[in-house]
Amino acid sequence: MLPLRNVRNIGISAHIDSGKTTLSERILYYTGRIHRMGDVRGKDIGATMDSRPDETSRGITIVSAATSCTWNDVQINLIDTPGHVDFTIEVERALRVLDGAVMVLCAVSGVQAQSITVDRQMKRYQIPRIAFINKMDRAGANPFRVVQALRDRLHLNPILLQYPLGLEAEFDGVIDLVTMEAHRFDGQYGEKRIAEPIPAALQAAAAEAREKLLDQLSMVSDELLAKLLNEEAIPEQLIWDVVRQATLQQEMVPVLMGSAYKNKGVQDLLDAVERYLPSPLDRGAVVAKPLGADDTADVIINPDPAADLVALTFKLTVETFGQLTYTRIYSGTLKPGQTVYNSRTGDRIHIGRMVRMHADKQEVIDQAQAGDIIALLGVDCASGDTLASQPNWVSLEGIFVPDAVITRAIYPKTAADGDHMAKALNRFCKEDPTFRVSTDPESGTTLISGMGELHLDIYLDRMREDYQAQVELGNPAVAYRETIGREASFDYRFKKQSGGPGQFAHVIGRIEPTDEAFVFDNRVVGGAIPQAFISACERGFQDALTTGVLEGYPITGVRVVLDGGSAHSVDSSEHSFRTASRLALTEAIAQAKPQLLEPIMTVTVETPSETFGRVQGDLSARRGVLLGSETQGDEVTIQAEVPLAEMFGYSTELRSLTAGMASFSMEFAHYRPVR
Ligand code: GDP
Repeated sequence: MLPLRNVRNIGISAHIDSGKTTLSERILYYTGRIHRMGDVRGKDIGATMDSRPDETSRGITIVSAATSCTWNDVQINLIDTPGHVDFTIEVERALRVLDGAVMVLCAVSGVQAQSITVDRQMKRYQIPRIAFINKMDRAGANPFRVVQALRDRLHLNPILLQYPLGLEAEFDGVIDLVTMEAHRFDGQYGEKRIAEPIPAALQAAAAEAREKLLDQLSMVSDELLAKLLNEEAIPEQLIWDVVRQATLQQEMVPVLMGSAYKNKGVQDLLDAVERYLPSPLDRGAVVAKPLGADDTADVIINPDPAADLVALTFKLTVETFGQLTYTRIYSGTLKPGQTVYNSRTGDRIHIGRMVRMHADKQEVIDQAQAGDIIALLGVDCASGDTLASQPNWVSLEGIFVPDAVITRAIYPKTAADGDHMAKALNRFCKEDPTFRVSTDPESGTTLISGMGELHLDIYLDRMREDYQAQVELGNPAVAYRETIGREASFDYRFKKQSGGPGQFAHVIGRIEPTDEAFVFDNRVVGGAIPQAFISACERGFQDALTTGVLEGYPITGVRVVLDGGSAHSVDSSEHSFRTASRLALTEAIAQAKPQLLEPIMTVTVETPSETFGRVQGDLSARRGVLLGSETQGDEVTIQAEVPLAEMFGYSTELRSLTAGMASFSMEFAHYRPVR
């Protein structure tokens, strides 16, 4: 088995259209994983990573898959991180299983709306990164401006490790500022990398760039600083080591450049992945939650192949033979024939075939160890499940599942469509916990809920294309909530004596607003309400919160303090206390200044400066609150908080406001009272 330090689990993050697909394809080609190169879109060969048809037609990557390749003696597991923020859970999962990332930026447009969103996520997960400035061959390419934007807009510390060998149409390769060689790329697909002396015309500029690089590195390395001061030669290995350390500490972001499309610079990027990005060992231990009733301390899971097995499933796909489950192993060694346990369900799982995914091919493997990313065949589980060698031990799923913010009714056209629809919905829920299905209690209509308009659209497309289910759609509806605005008290007696055994329950207490969804504070003393009925009271309060008093939306942000009450020795039961508590709370909420809450989204728009006024005016008309704007060249980035209810159809409107020149991204921020 490959030593762990020779493994790199990395993601490639990018703004749409910056060349992620092209770059991934080049990587698979140079590492010998694919043998032909096709222009990624519009041709038969297609992009190897982007195999779903809806991804190609929408131009975004939705499904996070993993594919393995080998560069020098390092195994690179490439995890596809979807860029679109509507798919939060997929992004979060993908980020969770990777150790490092390559951030692709366009040499012309630089840091764009989505780069900002993805940057936020990377910082949250503390993922070491390198940046690749792509499209150096395009008119207007300027890597120095992109580096400046990384500094100014993302507040990163970028260090330029290369200098361009020509720019725009003249772009011909890169100068490596560590080895001080020029790299050109020859052969039909640039597969021959040729190292040459730096052309005379660029020697001065390259020397200056190197000086700047060494100067930056001396800030983090005393050894390097001493050598600089003593005017000693700086060994290449020392530079590589310093850059690696600083990258792992997230003190720096090494920057490389090239043109994926023109086959230039990709091999140097692969070298950088090997040199600077972390192995699973560098990323170290992860923290898991204990499942045993008495355990409270977090469990530390070390990347040790000899330890007990702990693994996380992070992506499911359905193939003709059944389910393919992408899995990251965090500790232990996994082999076919082994039995493991699903921490969520308690199910015993027999490990059958295990494969490593290589682009579109599968290689059957006979073991995999801590740090590795592989796929299991024919295992039944959901995405995000923990697999462990012991039952009821630990769980890794710490991924926060956000509330759905939008709901749509769907109606199958025929009974057969209804069957297909049910099958599809079942599958989608398993793959994606942010996609939810429910039934309208009054009409019996099926409702689907998710993280945004596009999120639901993607699943509707899949339902039509992959499951042949024809459905009609209701209008999108915002997932409102209700809450209370002030304190109120209750003193509620529930009595029923119409024939048969009577019912009696009496509850006294108060409610007040809180930041949490629901808090139950039991302060009953002296058995005024017998202990046996207290949990029935709690359940009764929760029942009341499912249906708001204003418009029937779920209620959130309520703390219930139960102070006392009384019970009857014969007529009181769990049922009567549950009912009394529900009715008491509903009455109290009506007294507590109930309010309607609506989901607010953070919207980032990037648009040419001359359209700034129009875009901003439109956002204000949508009840948006401007958070800030930033001008860079003739582009401006606007950040605003806008109610989701006002954002339907925004992409169409933005296109017409800006003649298609703007782009935007949107992420759930918080709930706020409807004004
Ligand atoms: P993705 O949306 O980030 O996956 O981007 P794609 O890989 O699909 O690339 C978007 C477009 O940019 C396609 O038309 C590519 O051919 C083109 N493209 C990708 N890389 C480069 C590059 O290095 N230079 C130029 N000029 N075009 C590129």
